[in-house]
Amino acid sequence: MTASIKTEPVFTVFIGLGSNLENPVQQIRTAIGAIQANKGINLVKASSLYKTAPVGPEGQPDYINAVVEVQTTMQPQALLATLQTIENQHGRKRQLHWGARTLDLDILLFDEQVISQPNLVIPHAHISERNFVLIPLLEITDDSLMIPGKGQLNDLLQQCRDNAIEKLDI
Ligand code: AMP
Repeated sequence: MTASIKTEPVFTVFIGLGSNLENPVQQIRTAIGAIQANKGINLVKASSLYKTAPVGPEGQPDYINAVVEVQTTMQPQALLATLQTIENQHGRKRQLHWGARTLDLDILLFDEQVISQPNLVIPHAHISERNFVLIPLLEITDDSLMIPGKGQLNDLLQQCRDNAIEKLDI
């Protein structure tokens, strides 16, 4: 009799990170460390850090943003719960929509999956409208990357009319 070994599928996932409170550069760095430290997640690549003007309520500090590529065997809802735990560990309070936050973690892409659930939309609903997502994504992928239901990264970047962003030299 031969023993069968079950292997779980490994998913390629892109996660967007943002912070504009309490030392945002440090928040993003420790968040990447927390993602990397999770035993169900392998960090593949991390983009540079970018400084961006806030979207939403006025009078907020600038944001620091980045995108990471990871591999995981977690299912989408389990990954979302894990990322929300990391947000909470960084003192995230869910208050004003698009208001200032210590840490925001978004699942941008989950393999080629399209998910539309009450608490989870993938690709992320605003992926094609935000330079602070598209530009770091381009840095760590390829401009031919297909965003399911939206188009090629290259085309989305050309159509995006969002604020300019600044790559930090740190
Ligand atoms: P926000 O305040 O923009 O961080 O939104 C947080 C809410 O967005 C959470 O309650 C999530 O359940 C929901 N959400 C929907 N789709 C996603 C996604 N792709 N990644 C992370 N959060 C998501």
